[in-house]
Amino acid sequence: DLLVVGSANADLVIGVERRPGAGETVLGSDLAVHPGGKGANQAVAAARLGARTALLARVGDDTHGRLLLDAQRASGVDTVGVLVGGAPTGVALITVDPSGDNSIVVSPGANARLTPGDVRAAASLFQASRVVSAQLEIPLETVVETVRNLAEGSRFVLNPSPPRPLPTEVLAACDPLIVNEHEAKVILGDSAVGGSPEDRARILLAKGPRSVVVTLGAEGALVASAQGVTRVAPVKVDAVDTTGAGDAFTAALAWRLGRGAALTEAAAYAARVGAVAVTREGAQASFPTAAEVEAL
Ligand code: ADP
Repeated sequence: DLLVVGSANADLVIGVERRPGAGETVLGSDLAVHPGGKGANQAVAAARLGARTALLARVGDDTHGRLLLDAQRASGVDTVGVLVGGAPTGVALITVDPSGDNSIVVSPGANARLTPGDVRAAASLFQASRVVSAQLEIPLETVVETVRNLAEGSRFVLNPSPPRPLPTEVLAACDPLIVNEHEAKVILGDSAVGGSPEDRARILLAKGPRSVVVTLGAEGALVASAQGVTRVAPVKVDAVDTTGAGDAFTAALAWRLGRGAALTEAAAYAARVGAVAVTREGAQASFPTAAEVEAL
């Protein structure tokens, strides 16, 4: 059903009382290592909901790469498209202070070596997918090549994170472009100053995507298309950790679209998936099954 083209990272997390300054050493908690990266997260989120999902990504020939592959397989993701080698697995070095604020250093590693050629070599995965989902933790030229390799009739979903200006060719393929408020502002630049989220959704749509979804955290989401702008009501939950909520939302939306749902319907379902994800700690560990979404 779904092909995710994107990143896979090992998240290395240490709790600290405070962050070290230059030349300083501080002691932290025991190290926790979690599978992460937006591509890997989306693939796990979709597979856990029951989607037939494949991941096109690159990891290193190292323990972090094996951890990531194991996490994908344990969730039922097809990993034939996960390429191994060329650079160490991507890593996010995360320190979390007592107030919950985190500081993150990302080493893209193998993610930066996922090439347009890797995309062309994965033609059979593209042929088998009704929806292809991407993010921006891989080279932009690889995302451009992804758009060029979409099978006839298949749909492209992009969460431009981390955000940067997008080529017209990529924007025009998005159906939808999925952004949070921060990503919307970066993509719009000066034209986003002032105005409501609805205004921003309209301006984004005018930049060329076939449809736009703006996620608003606890406020729900907005859907903008040729039919106009509609609000997706928030789902009231007690949030404990919002890590990965956007990835769960995007994966769920992409899967429902592939199953023929209308965009507003798919976004409403995705909001429920995101809502369950924020009630639990972690990223991949927080993603619900379809039964858990029903139970909400
Ligand atoms: P990101 O993680 O990319 O910043 P958001 O924080 O907007 O994205 O979250 C994505 C979606 O997850 C939201 O549109 C919403 O549906 C759901 N969500 C996020 N935070 C909450 C929350 N506190 N309560 C309910 N739903 C939430």
